[in-house]
Amino acid sequence: MKKIWVYAEEVQGEISKVTLELLSKAKELAKAFSHEVEIGAVLLTKGIGEMTETLEAYGAEVVYAGEDDRLEAYCHTTYAPVLARLIKKEDPDIFLFGATQIGSELAPTVAAIVKTGVAAHCVDLRIGDDGLLISEVPAFGGKIIGEILIPKCRPQMASIKPGTFIATESCVKCSVVKKIDLTGLEDADKRLIPLKTCVTKSEAKPIDEAEIVIAGGYGLCCSENWSRLQELAELLGGAAGSTRPCLDEGWADNEQTMIGTSGKSIRPKVYMGFGISGATHHICGMKDSGLVISINKDKNANIFGVSDYYAVSDVNEILPILIDLVRSSKATAAEKGEKECH
Ligand SMILES: Cc1cc2nc3c(=O)[nH]c(=O)nc-3n(C[C@H](O)[C@H](O)[C@H](O)COP(=O)(O)OP(=O)(O)OC[C@H]3O[C@@H](n4cnc5c(N)ncnc54)[C@H](O)[C@@H]3O)c2cc1C
Repeated sequence: MKKIWVYAEEVQGEISKVTLELLSKAKELAKAFSHEVEIGAVLLTKGIGEMTETLEAYGAEVVYAGEDDRLEAYCHTTYAPVLARLIKKEDPDIFLFGATQIGSELAPTVAAIVKTGVAAHCVDLRIGDDGLLISEVPAFGGKIIGEILIPKCRPQMASIKPGTFIATESCVKCSVVKKIDLTGLEDADKRLIPLKTCVTKSEAKPIDEAEIVIAGGYGLCCSENWSRLQELAELLGGAAGSTRPCLDEGWADNEQTMIGTSGKSIRPKVYMGFGISGATHHICGMKDSGLVISINKDKNANIFGVSDYYAVSDVNEILPILIDLVRSSKATAAEKGEKECH
């Protein structure tokens, strides 16, 4: 029997969305095999709580669960050896991780112990005719999509960006919970010990949850325009997103705003891009948006090729105009509403 596993990442006592996306993809990959496939979720935690039910609801048939106080805070020196031992015992064929901060560290650490390969930051996965996992990864500055195969070693490992796949609930709900043997946890490498967990909550709306994303690029030219972009996003009830240069310049100070290969993948109803050229690394993260509107002063900008509407215009001029327009139409709507109330 083939085994396709997903690492179940926990965020504050809940299963992360990317885990559910990967379980949904695992179910799809399983259809490529004519024989039986086990969809497994591997969870390391201080307290399982209701997480097994969530994993089951998204298609996990077997939940490998390791529960212990010492697993309260993620640390690769504790987690990786446990996963490596489980792999050696159960011999999964495929093991998928979210390309999150945790997954991006844990997957290669585990792979190095069990001596296999990881395709990192994949944008798609499929099963080839020979039954091997084909992981698609942007390469050469995003100009080509490379296909990575791990023909000899097992498991075939891959990390996938959050938002790449859609999480769909499963109709088959009958999972088995198998306890992971945690003996040896006390011998874990103690060079790194998590002392405490500090949760930082951003005031801003997360770009992967917003229906409207107003994105800015290097063409914004200054931090004042980034503030204007944020204001426009707020007025429209959306979120502000960025390209990498916006972060590099320090205009955007939150890494969570970056859209693209090494940032987030988004699917808002409306995406508006200001001063963005349309590099593949960025397009990869926004191509599934609904309505795409772009503003760039270069009439040949790449982003126009993936836009429903575009304006050849200077962001310095158009941003203040748009803000005034939205503000005044909101004020008119509020006034009308007030009059109707009276
Ligand atoms: C491994 C790797 C991973 C990467 N991952 C990401 C990623 O996840 N996300 C990402 O975004 N990038 C990523 N990049 C960087 C990416 O390749 C591009 O360099 C980046 O997306 C370009 O951002 P930009 O469009 O803001 O800037 P530029 O390409 O410099 O484009 C600026 C645009 O602004 C326009 N402009 C200038 N002034 C004005 C004005 N006044 N009004 C209107 N338009 C104006 C210009 O015509 C130009 O088209 C990655 C790169 C590498 C190598």
